[in-house]
Amino acid sequence: MEPVSILGSTGSIGTQALRVCRALGRPVAALSADSSTGLLEEQARAFHPQKVCMTDEAACRDLRVRLRDTDIQVLGGMEGLCEIAADPACGMPLNALVGMVGLRPTLRALEAGKTVALANKETLVAAGELVQNTAKAHGGRLLPVDSEHSAIFQCLWGNDKKAVRRILLTASGGPFYGKTREELQTATLAGALCHPNWSMGRKITVDSATLMNKGLELIEAMWLFDVPPEQITILVHRQSLVHSAVEYRDGSILAQLSQPDMALPIQLALTYPERAETGVVEPLDLLRAGTLTFAAPDEETFGCLRLAKAAAKAGGLAPCILNAANEAAVALFLEERIPFLEIEERVGYALSRLGAPAYRTLEEVLAVAAEAKALAQSGAVLHELR
Ligand code: MG
Repeated sequence: MEPVSILGSTGSIGTQALRVCRALGRPVAALSADSSTGLLEEQARAFHPQKVCMTDEAACRDLRVRLRDTDIQVLGGMEGLCEIAADPACGMPLNALVGMVGLRPTLRALEAGKTVALANKETLVAAGELVQNTAKAHGGRLLPVDSEHSAIFQCLWGNDKKAVRRILLTASGGPFYGKTREELQTATLAGALCHPNWSMGRKITVDSATLMNKGLELIEAMWLFDVPPEQITILVHRQSLVHSAVEYRDGSILAQLSQPDMALPIQLALTYPERAETGVVEPLDLLRAGTLTFAAPDEETFGCLRLAKAAAKAGGLAPCILNAANEAAVALFLEERIPFLEIEERVGYALSRLGAPAYRTLEEVLAVAAEAKALAQSGAVLHELR
């Protein structure tokens, strides 16, 4: 069985991926974390990988000491992540990193001709064209782990892609569904972190509250499935049981339903093209599912979705700027240094300042991302806006 390497193994997706690996009896060749040394040590002792990587320097030194009684190789930094991604002995990488930091390891794995299980949507948002060109040039491939994209992937499976009319991307609507702009002015961090259906990491949970997550997923879907933004329709589906759907030209809609549990898309990416009966995910009982509802998203109230759609249409580096500014603004919101609606203001500011330049290289992507981050972080934003 091909081993798996989990980049970001101490996060929400990473810990669930390890649960899936255990259920599948799948060997784990490598693990990585940013700074959670205690948990990574625990995981390393339980799963016996050949390599582990800590991106934080001090944490890396700490982990070396903790694991010195083992023969596990401890790597550090982005270099370590890229080494794991490219190493044939480390098998298939599951990229569960948070943010654009996942871009380089994805590129390295694709350059090595690997199939990458991708939970790190920022990789495709920031540099979708570069990533797909790299995959094509080296025979690499991406398998989606995001629940919506796994659903779309399953609905396309075995069907004629030319017969697709549009993709129906479902959204839970997040914790602030139905709120007015006025109410969002006083939205708190605790409120934003309280997702109705999904248990996820902090960054993505805030992205769900602003609906930026759905905007990022729209761009992710464009690159994963090679469709223009006009061919993707977002539907708010509060129950999070239909994880997305594909509408075909003959009028047929295929949807994928299951419990809202990330273990399922993770497992499918690891077992594809087969399906495994591991019992990790409870089957969905449709008799108890209740009513399923669908509605259009409110882009007037949730401006991040509007900005993401505009960036998707503008193309070039606009999605990269959107994403980088969002990462910076969400980090400020998580530190309770800015109010909720300022996330959208700061992202809009970076986009208006930097536009949608064309690009060819990774260096151009990283340079504009750094610029967008700095703009979104700067206090000058609000001065200019008001
Ligand atoms: Mg998702």
